[in-house]
Amino acid sequence: MSSKVLKDGTVLAFDATSQSIQVLRKASILIENDRISAIEENFDALPTPDGVEVIDVSGKIVSPGFVNTHVHMWQSVYRTLGPNTTLSQYFDWVSQASEGARAAFTAEDIHISALEGYLEGLNSGVTSCVEHAHNNWSAPVMEAGYRAAVEGGARVWWCYDVAPRPAFSVDEQWAMYSDLKQDESRRVLPGLSLDGLGWTVLNKDGTGLDLIRQKKDELNLEALTVHHLGGPWPQGNSSPTCVCEENNIPAAGLPIIFSHAPFLTESDMKALRDHDMFVSITPESECHYGHSQTTGHLISDQASIGLDTTWTFSGDMINQTRLWLQLVRLRNYTKTLDAGLLPNANPMPVEQAFLLATRQGGRALHRDDIGVITVGAKADLVVFNGDSPNMLGWRDPIAAIVLHANAGDVEHVFVDGEWRKRDFKLVNLSQPWEGLRTQFVEASRRIQAELAVPPALPEKLWGIGEFGDVDHVSTVRK
Ligand SMILES: [Zn+2]
Repeated sequence: MSSKVLKDGTVLAFDATSQSIQVLRKASILIENDRISAIEENFDALPTPDGVEVIDVSGKIVSPGFVNTHVHMWQSVYRTLGPNTTLSQYFDWVSQASEGARAAFTAEDIHISALEGYLEGLNSGVTSCVEHAHNNWSAPVMEAGYRAAVEGGARVWWCYDVAPRPAFSVDEQWAMYSDLKQDESRRVLPGLSLDGLGWTVLNKDGTGLDLIRQKKDELNLEALTVHHLGGPWPQGNSSPTCVCEENNIPAAGLPIIFSHAPFLTESDMKALRDHDMFVSITPESECHYGHSQTTGHLISDQASIGLDTTWTFSGDMINQTRLWLQLVRLRNYTKTLDAGLLPNANPMPVEQAFLLATRQGGRALHRDDIGVITVGAKADLVVFNGDSPNMLGWRDPIAAIVLHANAGDVEHVFVDGEWRKRDFKLVNLSQPWEGLRTQFVEASRRIQAELAVPPALPEKLWGIGEFGDVDHVSTVRK
């Protein structure tokens, strides 16, 4: 692989000592193979190997790629199907638990849907994803989702959700997982979701840890993830407290990411910190579906940002990061205002939001070389053009990205030092965009027609959760 230099950009380097972003106003980065091998503020001091490709990024912002710590890419073809849905409606309608949804997808639909989802992410600078792969109802469907991750071009922790399915037993799923030919480049790394395994792994009898250890060795696992809600949502056994204190899963030595976790208890927060486990706050999902998010702002030190269902809203991290920043500000301002006092400071700096979307994702995966620009880190990089009407005049590059940028400002993207987007266009696709587009649109129209009408809500969610009325909002004058 040839080496590359990004020359004279504004570089958002990471300073490990202060755990903060160090803005280098005019710096150049040497990429060799998949790593950043040098960063110099004086271009002449940068080693330049023979045949190096020099890319002028002067006037532009060089950012680490965004790390999305929660997503289900197989659902991308649903895009705009559920603009006004709730979480309770989602399960029986379009999730892997819905018979109708399972029947609507061919394996090739899963492939094209997930593939397009990774491309949406790359287009806006999402270079890493933790895929919660619950495309788990047949061997071809499982294989198609994995193949999409390998072909997609992003870095993926592919956390497969082993769960009993009518036509695909747990034993068959384990066998199939062993048979999947693992990505040799190690850009797609195997992981597990504990959702479907919860009934066996998280049953407090100690056997769960043995199983995870065994599978870690067999499958080269690199991460675990699990959905967790809590609060008024029907309590499962997926809380950080349960995963740690009652089942000792962290002893397997794998990163563990809890998605959403909107109602953490004191004991949950202690478990997260004691065992270096992370939550994936998915701000827009938690607003859209009504999971809520009441404690994420209290656990920023063990939090990262994810997207969840990128068919219900855009799949870029810029919007999510901005939304989370402003939600936290609103929450903490309101606390002061509710006491009858005026806020005397801004509760959350923009840099903290940026770190949640980049460095914290790397930390969640126990990877110091992901989500940061430092010598030795993976060359997963995003170049923001900065010259659009919405970014022009920027001085603070972090504010420019978090508060002003959109996917259209992303000029170049690299994963493992390889071009993924160049001069505003996705490149090195596994198949030509035109064919991919046609196939995606066909699948999208067909599947959305089949699932157009959501089923009625059950009387209680999973037989337990009581529903209540919500206040509606309308522009219509009464
Ligand atoms: Zn999810």
